[in-house]
Amino acid sequence: MKRYRDIAGDGGSNILQQVAAQRERVDARLSQIGRVVAVLSGKGGVGKSTLTANLAAAWALQGLAVGVLDADLNGPSMATMLGVRRQTFHLTPEGVAPAVGPLDIRVMSMDGFLPSDGTPVTWDGPSRGTFIWRGTMEMSVLREFVSDTAWGPLDLLVVDLPPGNERLPHLTDIIPTLAGVVVVTIPTEVSQLVVNKTLTVAKTTGVPILGLVENMAGYVCSSCNAVGGLFEGGEVSALAVAHGVPFLGSTPFDGRIARQSDGGVPFVIEHGETPAGRAILAIAESLRSVLGLTSTDSP
Ligand code: ADP
Repeated sequence: MKRYRDIAGDGGSNILQQVAAQRERVDARLSQIGRVVAVLSGKGGVGKSTLTANLAAAWALQGLAVGVLDADLNGPSMATMLGVRRQTFHLTPEGVAPAVGPLDIRVMSMDGFLPSDGTPVTWDGPSRGTFIWRGTMEMSVLREFVSDTAWGPLDLLVVDLPPGNERLPHLTDIIPTLAGVVVVTIPTEVSQLVVNKTLTVAKTTGVPILGLVENMAGYVCSSCNAVGGLFEGGEVSALAVAHGVPFLGSTPFDGRIARQSDGGVPFVIEHGETPAGRAILAIAESLRSVLGLTSTDSP
């Protein structure tokens, strides 16, 4: 059997050196970051990005130094939800300075690299094998987002993964020290069927599943804060039990969450006393204790 190095000759060893050097840069950045947590869901539109932004804000409110890595390169929402749209990134001697959102949350997102709202991310590559090529390119970009961003010391880096089940194994390759994943669903059977598979995939990676969150569970009246029914569906807590993972809690639908997200100020910052605000803050608090983080835990 020929080893890659034998086949690739000098050019190959160059590539191997480059990969090794980048791994070292990733390790150096990660040594400054207390914990890395990913938020994911096989299903889109269930509130994964919303939860990411609000968990980040909740942890920042609790005194932690927080960063957010928007791993959804083709549909980046973090810049909008954290109020840093169109903030371009500049180079410093330590690396690329991240955008800075509310409560000093540091954000890296493809949004800052795109020239206009209608510009999609496209990859130049061979006309055949596009799928594989695209996955490889996306991974390289994510690896650079981790290694080349001057995050500074962080207690927590939260990664917003794009919808789907296939990116988590890529992320664990880039960040082998991933502390855990938070999985999100809404109550409907359609969502739970997909998220059932997400939980199975997450288990196969060996990364701790920190728990399952039910979003849009009931509807909150923004005048009186009363909670009424919204979607029908099976008990999300039963799905958590079936997989032997913690059920972290339920967040109701509240129109103010969407408004705050569009306005770039996470809901919990201004509405922590509402049913949805209290639910998210409680989820953040229990995750913080599972992760063993206190506000003075900066590395
Ligand atoms: P995903 O990341 O899963 O694709 P998003 O976080 O982008 O989903 O949420 C989809 C839409 O639903 C967004 O416009 C967001 O503001 C809104 N949204 C999410 N969760 C809630 C909620 N609990 N109450 C009201 N609106 C919500």
